Amino acid sequence: MTYYDSHVHSENSKDGVPSVDAICARAVSMGLSGVAITDHADVDMGQAELEVLKKLEDDVSAAREKYGGRLEISMGVELGEGNHVPALAEKITSRDSLDFVIGSMHRQREREDYYYLDYERENLDDLMRGYYRELREVVRGGCFDVVGHINYQVRYMSAATRARFDVSLYYDALREILEDVARAGKGIEINTSGLWRGVGFTIPTLEVVKMFRDAGGEIVTTGSDAHRTEHIGLRLGGALECLRAAGFRRYAFFKGREPFFHDV
Ligand SMILES: [Zn+2]
Repeated sequence: MTYYDSHVHSENSKDGVPSVDAICARAVSMGLSGVAITDHADVDMGQAELEVLKKLEDDVSAAREKYGGRLEISMGVELGEGNHVPALAEKITSRDSLDFVIGSMHRQREREDYYYLDYERENLDDLMRGYYRELREVVRGGCFDVVGHINYQVRYMSAATRARFDVSLYYDALREILEDVARAGKGIEINTSGLWRGVGFTIPTLEVVKMFRDAGGEIVTTGSDAHRTEHIGLRLGGALECLRAAGFRRYAFFKGREPFFHDV
């Protein structure tokens, strides 16, 4: 079995810890076949985010010299809120050095990251509708290869909040988004952070991965969303199980903005 971790943050991300070299050393020691370093570039932070990529390009080319032949290393970025400043999103993601772009939604306009919200006080209906409204904008903007961690906000709700709330009420909106992604020939990721953080399911869940397949989707990547060395490659087997259960026979790892497929 081959494992690829297509979502790892290095010290070049604002909350990342490991160096690119440490990530690659860890990936080799775990027997991973490839890793995509996908540091955050949030368009709300402005042009400075381009500097992150310049540093990452240097680190990745040094790592390729050192680990070449033992590990595939993909130069990526996790573009946050590309819909907020489309021209900057275009500028960041059109860099020739990029192998892979995750398009993510972490915060709605004029709001904090979902990570910081108090879900006991939030109007969950507004929050869900807002999430899908903006995720649809991200998808229509087209500056991505896969959509990152769909239903990111659910990762931060307590089990008690989730029990009071039926996410499937919003699946019509989500289904349309997944159809847009599939029609554009793009993909989604299965993010294993929900498994290794103890939330109990992948982000998104099996149900959503099945919806993507039913919508005609073919491209799915697997990633840990690690910001620390010890989380690299964690629970990728769980992502492959989810893929199999959803009826997928293969999954993707990106090089040069193209998906290369591996058996699940
Ligand atoms: Zn993210």
